[in-house]
Amino acid sequence: MEFKDLLQFIGEERQSLRERFPIPDPEKEVLAHLAKAYEEMGELSEDILSYCSLQRQDKLDAYSKESLGAEVSDALITILLIADIMEVDVEKALEWKIEKVKSRRN
Ligand SMILES: [Mg+2]
Repeated sequence: MEFKDLLQFIGEERQSLRERFPIPDPEKEVLAHLAKAYEEMGELSEDILSYCSLQRQDKLDAYSKESLGAEVSDALITILLIADIMEVDVEKALEWKIEKVKSRRN
């Protein structure tokens, strides 16, 4: 998958969510997505605890590399939806940030 394909999916998903859960106020829309992002980070946290064997046995039994990948994906998607709503050019922002991080290594 190329980055542009991911961003296209994000735009399509945002439109689909708007049709299923209309929130006319853009500020409420972004806050709803922020709440969803925290929900997904909680689910990712559960899988990280399982990865570290720091969960009850029933949760350890439910954990898999696939579930971890799904939760990482959910977290990324929710963050990208927020960026889309707020008209952040994620590709450009990432390029800038990566260069900044690289420059810290020297
Ligand atoms: Mg999830």
